[in-house]
Amino acid sequence: MNLKEENISPLNIGLVIPVFNEVESIDIFLEKISSIFANQPHITVELIFINDGSTDSTLEKLISRQIHNKNIKIIDLSRNFGKEAALSAGLQFSKNDVAIPIDVDLQDPPELILEMIAKWREGYEVVLGRRINRDVDSWAKRRSASFFYRIHNKISNLQIPENVGDFRLMDRKVVEALKELPESHRFMKGLFAWVGFRTAYVDYVRPERAAGTTKFNGWKLWNFALEGITSFSTDPLRIWTYVGFFISSLSFIWAIFIAIRVIIDGVDMPGYASLMVAVTFLGGLQLIGIGVIGEYLGRTYIESKRRPVYLIRHTYDKKADQWI
Ligand code: UDP
Ligand code: MG
Repeated sequence: MNLKEENISPLNIGLVIPVFNEVESIDIFLEKISSIFANQPHITVELIFINDGSTDSTLEKLISRQIHNKNIKIIDLSRNFGKEAALSAGLQFSKNDVAIPIDVDLQDPPELILEMIAKWREGYEVVLGRRINRDVDSWAKRRSASFFYRIHNKISNLQIPENVGDFRLMDRKVVEALKELPESHRFMKGLFAWVGFRTAYVDYVRPERAAGTTKFNGWKLWNFALEGITSFSTDPLRIWTYVGFFISSLSFIWAIFIAIRVIIDGVDMPGYASLMVAVTFLGGLQLIGIGVIGEYLGRTYIESKRRPVYLIRHTYDKKADQWI
């Protein structure tokens, strides 16, 4: 098959779109998508919206848009499970040739999808959208993101590419591989990286949100970073052996030093300050160590319950009565 024929072979793409209180963004998003794909008759675009427990009229909006667009599918989750779980739900239902997780706020520019498809046709199985400029993010968010990637990639066997979000094209094979991963704590960036496959990049500048406000605050991001690190590295657990060993060796040398000083100079009473420092310092260190163990133990506990990642209230699909 020559390239020209390949370019016009029919293709079914699935956009996986988690939405949480996004009623203002949906129309803008849908207009944009239809304008991009209007002159691409060989591409069918299925829009898989996952309503992640919105408390505004997001669901009603989606249902009203579905009346005129049979390619819209809606998965209504029973509550807010978070973006990671919503993405898992959407991918679970994607039966398309390629699946593309994308934000509804147009911060992942849909124009890029055509470039991604071109790369996929070249034979890549994963095409990552890479931000070359994060000026729209706050200074603190940029700094903390870069710090996270540095730490994560240093202590984990798995390298997560920097400046890459969830926006990516994935071949059906990759989606099937993701579905095989059983964990209920789903740090998608890590899981995406873990499955591997032949990967290409398309670069873009991340624009401002088209409407509405960000759904992530500092505390959510911090927990997200902890999730990322504890999901793919056990170094934070193991480091305490070495810290403990190092500190006890120092204490041992210190003890010998004191013993010799007592033999030479006799007993001296002062020492309250250094004693307090040692006690509080070691106390703090132990608490940190216990805290780190707690992070992992907590995750093992949650994982061992084998609860589902999300619960679905209802799925809306005009083409089929029920999804398989
Ligand atoms: N989102 C979600 N559940 C959440 C938080 C966010 O489904 O608990 C969705 C949100 O509706 C949007 C996408 O995830 O489509 C990205 O969220 P946002 O734009 O707020 O994140 P930011 O771009 O600020 O990182
Ligand atoms: Mg956004």
